[in-house]
Amino acid sequence: MTDPGTLDEVHRRYERERLKRLRPDGNDQYVAAEGVFAHYVDDPHTPRVERDPIIESASDAVDVAFIGGGFAGLLTGAALRQAGIDRVRLIDKGGDVGGTWYWNRYPGAMCDTASLIYLPLLEETGYLPSEKYTGGADILEHCRRIARHFDLYRDAVFSTEVTGLDWDDADRQWVISTDRGDHLRARHVCVGTGPLHKAKLPGIPGIGDFTGHSFHTSRWDYSYTGGDPRGAPLTGLANRRVGIIGTGATAVQCVPHLARSAGELYVFQRTPSSIDVRANRTLDYDELAPKMGPGWQRRWLENFTILQTGGIADEDLVMDGWTDISQRIRDRVLANPERGFGPDAMLAAYHESDDEKMAEIRSRVDSIVDDPATADALKPWYRQLCKRPCFHDEYLDSFNRPNVHLVDTDGRGVERITERGVMVGDVEFELDCIIYASGFEVGTDFQRRWGFDPVGRGDQLLSDAWAEGMSTLHGMHVHGFPNLFVIGPSQAANLISNIPHNLVEAGRTVAAVVAEAERLGAETVEVTAEAERDWVELLESGGRTFGGDPSCTPGYYNNEGQPIEGATRRGMLGYPTGPVEYFRYIEAWRESGEFAGLVFD
Ligand code: NDP
Repeated sequence: MTDPGTLDEVHRRYERERLKRLRPDGNDQYVAAEGVFAHYVDDPHTPRVERDPIIESASDAVDVAFIGGGFAGLLTGAALRQAGIDRVRLIDKGGDVGGTWYWNRYPGAMCDTASLIYLPLLEETGYLPSEKYTGGADILEHCRRIARHFDLYRDAVFSTEVTGLDWDDADRQWVISTDRGDHLRARHVCVGTGPLHKAKLPGIPGIGDFTGHSFHTSRWDYSYTGGDPRGAPLTGLANRRVGIIGTGATAVQCVPHLARSAGELYVFQRTPSSIDVRANRTLDYDELAPKMGPGWQRRWLENFTILQTGGIADEDLVMDGWTDISQRIRDRVLANPERGFGPDAMLAAYHESDDEKMAEIRSRVDSIVDDPATADALKPWYRQLCKRPCFHDEYLDSFNRPNVHLVDTDGRGVERITERGVMVGDVEFELDCIIYASGFEVGTDFQRRWGFDPVGRGDQLLSDAWAEGMSTLHGMHVHGFPNLFVIGPSQAANLISNIPHNLVEAGRTVAAVVAEAERLGAETVEVTAEAERDWVELLESGGRTFGGDPSCTPGYYNNEGQPIEGATRRGMLGYPTGPVEYFRYIEAWRESGEFAGLVFD
């Protein structure tokens, strides 16, 4: 499938579309859900119940406290239990475990990575999902299953937001302050608040003026819309005029549900997402059984990561949209041996495969959307990995319904919000409800996203230690901050296509280090300044960052089109030889029993 015109014309169009969207304010175009906007992040799922503060003394300290009860906390908690650690406390501002899946209950929420590798600990918990991609409600249930299976509810504290973290050098513990007035104590603390957890709103002039109803997709208001997270009709919207601002991965999943239920639906688009085939289906475990012997999930995870990052494996166990483009690249490289197998050959194969893929995606729009002008406006003009690729089989069809209106802003975005609705150009769209599908903060200061700034040894703030940018060993250990573990993909594997895989490995690493500290009777474990410096130098020498292609249309994958340098770049670095090698490296590091770079005291 090809686009009309030459490839050069296609690429010139990519550049024109990018320039239209480039804006000097970058990340500052968004406003935080704070102050007058704080109600946008109230918990709609669990009512806040007042309680007395928990004040703990040194002898009450748990072994490990984990800030965040999402996959990071659950997977680390599970690994700690497997290592025999007794007192593990999850702390979360939500009313239950689940993190992303606790908050994001919008209709249509579903994982985009195949459930057999996206859902962790399937073998350990004995659960098998029924479909290739699992709905959000079942993913949340799986989170609860993990918490029950590994007894992680026992010491958990929910509906509680951490506001401070202070190292107590006398007792060699962390003191955790919260918005409930708690002073909790823990020997070790992990911070795993998730890379995309702080909802952001578009800084559109007049956003506070709207007098109708409005909410952010991560706090879906079923009391207004009716329906439920499993997709029951949104009966509350039957006669309403609903606007949704944003067309990223979240909007792509909830628009079909809104389209079915709303009186009128206006989809305000700045940049169309690329919508590839989803092809969800029931899993046939008779067929899969030969590939699922003991230890299967680990092999599947590795297989997916190898293929998705351009490696070669005997077979594709997962077979989904994420591995498709990599397979095309590999096939091209192998089919053109005369070009060699170096970086230039890889880059050429990547560009050709991407040109082919994006032409297919644009052609798919034409084959589904009836109105040619609407179809044209829904076509993405950029390389597939410039923005989060989306996979859906009903999103595009929604625009064939008479009650659904695409309002394309030609890259400019919504200009103004009024008391009555949304302005685009000179047209005011009167609405009863505005839904913000405007995403989450990425690339802002960590202390904004975490909500606190840890104070380590010698009263040093982490923000001071990281004044030049994030600095760790393995993305996890920070000199001057003993017994603190930062959990996330950065400065480690940086595998974006399957976030839980990063967390499975991180959890095992934390458990191994804590178990070693217990074995040695050590009260502290801390990375040396030298080991931390060497790790950052290694990452910087490799120059492998998440996203960052300056020729891409702006978005959170490339720092909204702003330069990626200095501190911003540091926070986006990954292991120079990629995720597969990182996972092998960290396993060997753990299992050697030497824990090179750490000092146990
Ligand atoms: P995104 O940040 O991806 O999307 C925000 C949207 O808001 C974009 O379409 C953006 O346009 C638009 N926008 C911002 N400002 C304006 C404006 N002034 N006028 C009009 N539109 C505007 O957020 P999402 O919540 O969709 O997704 C966040 C991430 O969460 C995903 O990228 C993905 O990683 C993850 N996710 C994963 C899912 C899964 O695995 N199943 C499902 C959903 C989300 P523009 O593109 O021009 O910036």
